[in-house]
Amino acid sequence: MIKNEEFQDEIGDNHVSLSAKNPVRDDAFDITDDEKIEKIKKDVESILLTLGMDLTDDSLKGTPNRVAKMFVKEIFGGLNPAKKPKASTFDNNYKYGEMLVEKNIIVYSTCEHHLLPIIGRAHVAYISNGSVIGLSKMNRIVEYYAKRPQVQERLTMQIVQELQIALGTEDVACVIDAKHLCVNSRGISDIESSTVTSEFGGKFKDNVTRREFLDYIKLETKF
Ligand SMILES: [Zn+2]
Repeated sequence: MIKNEEFQDEIGDNHVSLSAKNPVRDDAFDITDDEKIEKIKKDVESILLTLGMDLTDDSLKGTPNRVAKMFVKEIFGGLNPAKKPKASTFDNNYKYGEMLVEKNIIVYSTCEHHLLPIIGRAHVAYISNGSVIGLSKMNRIVEYYAKRPQVQERLTMQIVQELQIALGTEDVACVIDAKHLCVNSRGISDIESSTVTSEFGGKFKDNVTRREFLDYIKLETKF
């Protein structure tokens, strides 16, 4: 989704104050991960019992605990700011002044409306204004923000904003193309459709620069 001009202007320069935040309560981290796992375990147990499942069955016995651990430590682990990857940057000593694109970063996220997977690829680009960032850091930033109950639009914006702050430049862009299992496997059951979202900061608002980025995404990687 390429947002309309008006909205682009609105987020423009003061993007930080308008940063796309997940709706997380202030007391979100007042209890420990282990306490959360204990509570969620009971909640999952309750859901399964209500559905009529026999939790004494060998196959189901461990499910509440497994799901609780998976929620807290894995698929929603990125809610915890303590797990935010350190976005260490370096001086651009080799004076590379062109666009750098990290494409086909695998995205595993979870739709916050249905708690079903969002699976796809993120393509991230920036133009250095003096600092550069480790390539794998870009993957880690995507992973961190993906591991939350999410909406794809917000995820796209958060990746761009994080890199803009880390790199000290507006010239960052991200495109995500992903399948939402809430669309593909239930409801309308359309297995073919995917959702594209984009966020273009700074120079990427310029048509030529934006086109260059989008052309690189289309390149087939041969090795
Ligand atoms: Zn959904």
